[in-house]
Amino acid sequence: MSLTLDEARAMHAEVHVMDLHADTAKLMDKLGYDLYERHERPLPRFANMIGHVDVPRMRDGGMAGQFFSFWTNPLPERGCGASVAAQLDAIDRAIDQHPEQLRWSRTGADVRAAKAAGAIAALGGIEGGHALEGQLDAIEAFSRRGVRYLGLLHFSANAIGKPAKGKGADAAAGLTGFGRDVVRECERTGVIVDLAHINRRGYFDALEVATQPMMVSHTGVLGVHPHWRNIDDEQIRALANAGGCVGIIFSRKYLGGATIDAVVDHVLHVLDVAGEDVPALGSDFDGFVVPPAGLEDIAAMPNLTVALSRRGVSARVLEKILGGNVLRVLDAVPAWGKLAA
Ligand SMILES: [Zn+2]
Repeated sequence: MSLTLDEARAMHAEVHVMDLHADTAKLMDKLGYDLYERHERPLPRFANMIGHVDVPRMRDGGMAGQFFSFWTNPLPERGCGASVAAQLDAIDRAIDQHPEQLRWSRTGADVRAAKAAGAIAALGGIEGGHALEGQLDAIEAFSRRGVRYLGLLHFSANAIGKPAKGKGADAAAGLTGFGRDVVRECERTGVIVDLAHINRRGYFDALEVATQPMMVSHTGVLGVHPHWRNIDDEQIRALANAGGCVGIIFSRKYLGGATIDAVVDHVLHVLDVAGEDVPALGSDFDGFVVPPAGLEDIAAMPNLTVALSRRGVSARVLEKILGGNVLRVLDAVPAWGKLAA
């Protein structure tokens, strides 16, 4: 089955296409980036590393839902919580401006309802547990504002654990006691744990503590390209056994290729290693990545569907990769945990 672009677009109209990771809220907060304006690509000032996502192009791409990931600069750590709040404010303002276009969502049902109403589901995630500033109760506060996943690490060590590489990296060190408490508090408050950027030891420690599915929101895989940021087959299988999903990143650097087929290679590897319930998409758009040719922005998502179909992925499995697996994880992790919604 090889789909034409028109057929891929028609498929996107039917299924729920989800992206697990884009850094657009930071642009909205810091640069006044208007989510409702169609932006030319690329933004000249920043080469082609940002300016990948806006509502008109999400519509072109047939997107059902977008995770907005909130990243912060941990040096100093103080102020990171406020920075996440400012990015949440930016999404709140966008939703207030056009509630018919964009809707805060937490569950599979929310995403389906948004699409049925002609809106795009907005979901929130935090990139880097330093945003908690060492406060466990920050997780509940962020959850109540719409944060649905917490990436434990980013590019530097924090109170939770160590990054795969970067300031304070230490391959021998796993999750701290506080880190284990964070995993438990995430489960209590309906926040999915994101294992992107964490070192290998911490990755398995987190899975050991978890009783609910986790995800890796944006990554490449070592089975295709050797890069410190990518995860190996054992990591993929462990996440899969716990019911999680792996979002494949759209960054040439981590993919080890400059074309859309590099993304397909990584998706197919996850499919081979862990089965059809695991691969998902986590672009890292607007996160200073250089995306592959043919996948320059969110509007180009149907090209990926075409490319996957050309490599033999059936319509049934495509539906899972494009977003079905994300919806399953959203359904498997109670939206508000043990909090009263
Ligand atoms: Zn990242």
